[in-house]
Amino acid sequence: MPYLMIGIDDTDWEGGGCTTYVMYSFIKYLVRENLTRSVIGLPRLTRLNPYVPFKTRGNASLSVIIYVESEDDAKDHVELMESLINQMVKRVGKTSPGIAYLVIRNMLKVDERLTWFYRKSVRDIVTLDLARKVASKVNAKLMGGRGTIGALASLGFIPIDATYEFIAYRPEDEDRPMINPIDVKHWDHTTRPFTFLNINEDQVLIEPHGPDPVLFGVRGDSPYHVLAMGNYLANKYNAIGWIIYVTNQGTNDHRSRASEYIPYRNVDLIGILMNAVFDDKGHVHLTLDDAHKAIAYRHLGVSKELANCVGCMVEAWGGVKPNEKLDLYIEGMRVLHDRYVEVRNPRCPRCGGPMESMGRSGLLRCKRCGFEGKLPRIIIPRNNWFLINPKASEYRHLMKPNERVGLEGLALYMPKPYLWVY
Ligand SMILES: [Zn+2]
Repeated sequence: MPYLMIGIDDTDWEGGGCTTYVMYSFIKYLVRENLTRSVIGLPRLTRLNPYVPFKTRGNASLSVIIYVESEDDAKDHVELMESLINQMVKRVGKTSPGIAYLVIRNMLKVDERLTWFYRKSVRDIVTLDLARKVASKVNAKLMGGRGTIGALASLGFIPIDATYEFIAYRPEDEDRPMINPIDVKHWDHTTRPFTFLNINEDQVLIEPHGPDPVLFGVRGDSPYHVLAMGNYLANKYNAIGWIIYVTNQGTNDHRSRASEYIPYRNVDLIGILMNAVFDDKGHVHLTLDDAHKAIAYRHLGVSKELANCVGCMVEAWGGVKPNEKLDLYIEGMRVLHDRYVEVRNPRCPRCGGPMESMGRSGLLRCKRCGFEGKLPRIIIPRNNWFLINPKASEYRHLMKPNERVGLEGLALYMPKPYLWVY
């Protein structure tokens, strides 16, 4: 029995729209036709390379796998998606929507070239030409413009780590309501650690500020926790509907784990941090022992920690900007070996009192009983194995938040909730 894999991208434009809303509208159509059960798993929201210079607002593409009766049935679904895009998308500026689809017989036999194309799209720059080549190799069809790249990439998302997002939509003719931080705090507390990046002190992080139809999005590792929190808020803040997506958000899928400096790509470096200099704007300029330079912007809120790591062996990662020096813009850093040690005088062996140094001789003298002697100093290593990540409000979609460490892959063991779209 055949399955239709269909992906879309690039349907938002300057001043409105949202690709997730087009997919939501498509799914709602299936709901009305009583075809909800033909959706395999959850619809997928895939974020692509965050360093691509000519991207759509959130660089999101979407796809869904549907059980179909026949090739003709698959075609009907594709036509539905096409007409939804034509109705919903304003073709202004650089907006160039695209659809990619593929009919396969066996879900366990997704062509490796498709998963390769997803991995490349999330880490690198890909051209329309490459998308066309891959599509013809895997028998996928492309319809439309630049958006076909992301649409095809989304079809190749076979996760080894994933998260969920509950997205609620708002009425188009109403102003965006202000979500009360107290509501978010309460639910954040209740659903942690299975939801993440909800709130930063009093700053609500689940609500976008743009003109798009998204009311809010709750991200997490469990579909049931995002559902509980999302459903409450959707009711309270007058959402017109909602859906749960499985996503690559917060998974670090964009990290290349390669140390080669290539513009618009993520790079991973291991070295000794030699120097950290603050400029007048508060950004920190770092030098590693192989003369590689890196910059950490002030707004990331990691500067103080970085200054604390000078001399340590670190792993640093981030995006490469295509300027002359190919600077690395830091996204995160991990201390692999902390060189800091604290040297203390021992206690007096006779009375246990504090001892003080007597100049250069190396002799120590007890402050309490006057005992003098040459004794070894006590060395206390700081042993700080910290992971430096930006503050919560500066996270980009794909960056893995610290609180997700240890939860990787959990999402894949979660059964699909009975209710996942409304
Ligand atoms: Zn003493």
